[in-house]
Amino acid sequence: MAEIRLENITKLFDKHIVGLKDFTLQVKDGEFVTILGPSGSGKSTALRIIAGLEHQDKGSIFIDGINVNKHLPQERDVAFVFQSYALYPHMDVYENIAVGLRIKGCSKGEIQKRVQDVTELLEIGGLLKRKPKALSGGQRQRAALARAIAKRPKVFLLDEPLSNLDASLREKMRTELKILFNKLKATVIYVTHDQTEAMSLSDKIALINNGMLKQVGLPDDLYYKPNDLFVASFLGSPRINTLELDIIGRKNFVCGKVCLSIPLNWVSKLNNRSKVILGVRPEHIKVYLEPQENTHLAQLILIEKMDKYAILSLSWQGQILKVIAEKDFATWHKRDSIWFQFDMNKLYLFDKETLNTI
Ligand code: ADP
Ligand code: MG
Repeated sequence: MAEIRLENITKLFDKHIVGLKDFTLQVKDGEFVTILGPSGSGKSTALRIIAGLEHQDKGSIFIDGINVNKHLPQERDVAFVFQSYALYPHMDVYENIAVGLRIKGCSKGEIQKRVQDVTELLEIGGLLKRKPKALSGGQRQRAALARAIAKRPKVFLLDEPLSNLDASLREKMRTELKILFNKLKATVIYVTHDQTEAMSLSDKIALINNGMLKQVGLPDDLYYKPNDLFVASFLGSPRINTLELDIIGRKNFVCGKVCLSIPLNWVSKLNNRSKVILGVRPEHIKVYLEPQENTHLAQLILIEKMDKYAILSLSWQGQILKVIAEKDFATWHKRDSIWFQFDMNKLYLFDKETLNTI
């Protein structure tokens, strides 16, 4: 297995469309790193450049410390699993797996053994004679994975491998993938736009937007210590609530007609700002049936009942706040007044201009 380093990679398509911009990322041996970002943010471009399917305009790629900028795809010893699986339609599952091994120069016996091992591992041993069109989505996905694993590459590159599966199969495969790659102790770079997938699978997440790295770190670091509002908003469902606040007299935030005291530890961080954006996650707002000390009155406008909790939409000072509440609260549907409180230790402040965390 291997270590990967991307250093200051820039790629422009047609000289002006940003694929990646000054993108740097390090993936350690045996690490499962996810590149997460919205559609069009440069995730596939990053994988394709690592694989050598696309060439960067600037920057370098190192695999195990060796600069592979000039190496052809087949010389890089990586295996790519595409979103569309890219199985050869005229070949059966056995051949789809075997063909890459033959190109690699494996003997017939070695190929047979590897196909057997990998198809047992992925529980598709009974499908070897089937062509892709005779496979379900999940089976095709496994065949594509099997093809990659059989190559025993230094690095696995997986581009949204679960996005064509239905929701329940996606969840099942997510768990299986995690177990499988743990077992293989493989170095994996996984691409997805799905934050739940990224949070649950990854050792490390690299969040990108417009081809630029926004933050890289442990999933919890991105969630609890976001560098900026983009990162804070991308992770979490429902997304973090944001409120624009005026700062009055260094002691109070004002939102609409409501004054909130500024926690002491924040006062020094505010400098000369007159406005900030407050971020509060839906799980960090507590709701009450009756007014309590330091609670605010809001209108309850919607309750969405989920399996284990309810999402409340509160209207407050002309804005909507989403709150995750216990499921029982969903029985309040006839009530429209409700009181709430922010967990003052769990709030985020963002600069209004730069959107960076203060
Ligand atoms: P993602 O995988 O995150 O959805 P991509 O890496 O596919 O994003 O694309 C990043 C940006 O580069 C997008 O704006 C996309 O339209 C553009 N792009 C990707 N490939 C090409 C190409 N071959 N020609 C022109 N533009 C491209
Ligand atoms: Mg893509």
